[in-house]
Amino acid sequence: MVKGIRKEAYDCEKYVSGKSMDEVMAEYGLSSVIKLGSNENQYGPYETAFKEMQAEVGRINIYPEKNYIRLKELLGEKLGVTKDWVSLGHGAGNVLDSVAKTLLEDGDEVIVPQQSYRLYREISKIMGAKVIEVPLNDSYTIDLNDFKKALTPKTKIVWICNPNNPTGSIIDKDSFSSFIDAMPENCWMVLDEAYAEFCDSDLLPDVMKFIKEGKNVIDIHTFSKYYGLAGGRIGYLVASPEFVNWYDTVSEPFNANRIGLAGAVALMENEEECKKYGDLMIHDREWLNEELTKLGCKCYPSYANFVFFETPYSASEIGEKLLQKGIIVRPCGGWGYEKHLRVSIGTTEQNKEFLQGIKEVLQTMN
Ligand SMILES: *Cc1c(COP(=O)(O)O)cnc(C)c1O
Repeated sequence: MVKGIRKEAYDCEKYVSGKSMDEVMAEYGLSSVIKLGSNENQYGPYETAFKEMQAEVGRINIYPEKNYIRLKELLGEKLGVTKDWVSLGHGAGNVLDSVAKTLLEDGDEVIVPQQSYRLYREISKIMGAKVIEVPLNDSYTIDLNDFKKALTPKTKIVWICNPNNPTGSIIDKDSFSSFIDAMPENCWMVLDEAYAEFCDSDLLPDVMKFIKEGKNVIDIHTFSKYYGLAGGRIGYLVASPEFVNWYDTVSEPFNANRIGLAGAVALMENEEECKKYGDLMIHDREWLNEELTKLGCKCYPSYANFVFFETPYSASEIGEKLLQKGIIVRPCGGWGYEKHLRVSIGTTEQNKEFLQGIKEVLQTMN
């Protein structure tokens, strides 16, 4: 046993990522693979961002002051606030972690959706909080009425993923306001909107309205999915300037890198490419949903850049057979969904190859 490790760390689970492309190629003797297991954007990096990022490499010896401020200003403009309402992190994951550090102490309770992004649970445990898990409802959706029942005077954070990963579902936006009002005074709602850009904004709660009204709401976004910069590691939060001030006090000074920042700034100045390919991915998501349904899979409405679906067979077995064909997807057994899989929307070409692959796999299972 290693000495000196915090007792809270013993309760944490290490993040297990999906297999990398190189691993799959080596293991299965393949010359190419399609990676649709991590919800990355296969059309990225966008040309708009790529040029600026290349130019930025030559300035990597200098701290990223200029673009750090510039990105906050651009995000503020987009959201109708000044830059004091925005802060950054190296990926939304880091933003979530710093929020946990800012708010949580021993004895606090947090509420998390049981079938959702795993990080909420782990970063809460490491801060000494007690984690209350609330299962999704029968339609694989986070139900705020169920969450309301789990609120106690000790609840400090309610972590919500909307649209939810891995199910693609969205909360009933009409239940949002009464939930916020039911939260105890010191409790914060942290809304992870990593996939919001893939969803019609009318279907999501108007988070900015709640934040501007001074409610305890923190909104989190990432450049990893819609904007195609997963390796650039840029995430951000929007909250009241008072909260942002504490977040900035707790997080490290320059918690975003020059190259990612240069890409993000370029994309905020010109979203044309993102919009063009974003629309295409949304179109392909609906197409894939229909095609999988035709193959006899049970598909669920998705508002993200992936499709969540169920077959009559073991998802891990299907995942394994797809790997043999060089197609990486995410079987959802880790969330207790033994027959469900999550497949990210790739390029149209890749989506077609995935469909052909799963068609063949399903035939061998019959
Ligand atoms: C991918 C993802 C993130 C993390 O994004 P990064 O910015 O790459 O850290 C956060 N939340 C959810 C729900 C995600 O799926």
